[in-house]
Amino acid sequence: MHVSLTLVSGNRKVGPIPVSTTEEDSCPSECPLKGTDCYARFGPLGMHWRKIGEGGRGTQWDFFCKTVKKFPKFQLWRHNQAGDLPQNENGKIDAIKAGQLSKASQHTRGWTYTHYNPTDPENAAVIDEMNKVDGMTVNLSADSMAEADQYYDLGIAPVCVTLPKDAPHRGIKTPKGLPVVVCPAQTHDDMSCARCKLCQVRDRKSIVGFLAHGTAKKRLSERLS
Ligand code: SF4
Repeated sequence: MHVSLTLVSGNRKVGPIPVSTTEEDSCPSECPLKGTDCYARFGPLGMHWRKIGEGGRGTQWDFFCKTVKKFPKFQLWRHNQAGDLPQNENGKIDAIKAGQLSKASQHTRGWTYTHYNPTDPENAAVIDEMNKVDGMTVNLSADSMAEADQYYDLGIAPVCVTLPKDAPHRGIKTPKGLPVVVCPAQTHDDMSCARCKLCQVRDRKSIVGFLAHGTAKKRLSERLS
């Protein structure tokens, strides 16, 4: 498992904070976007992502965790602009490697997202454990509003959802009435993760909504509508 760490992101939406990228093999088979319409497969990010792995860019997981451990206290950072949590031989989240990351990042203010199925008890236990440790917030990635409600009710993690590209920017609610906040970096030119930090807030009541973007946004929006 190789991870590339950029200490100062050049991505305007992220802002000048550390950002990591994990090789594509980390993505779970249950992710409906794997190998298809995932925004991260296209453009400069896609090119970077494809170069990560044995003999290419990135370092082994252990070294990556050691580097994170050296981050300054309260360092804001985003784990995985592409890729997912480490995977074990059964296609579930690798509890040992996930625990290593939790421990290494407990003095920081990091966050990440996962498409591993959180209704699977094994995955749920790892995510719950990670979110009990200070430092790294794991967000669950839902692919519909109903799924966002279902994931929120698990009570183990904050939730994000993908929205059609032309979804309204305000006033959206899930079927159960949870407010959906459209990612401000997508709706305001002067906003970035470094300023917003909403995905780092573990106990938030709101669902973060990401408007479909990237090369496949039209196809993805049609699927979500
Ligand atoms: S909601 Fe905020 S923290 Fe989350 S991705 Fe958007 S700008 Fe970054």
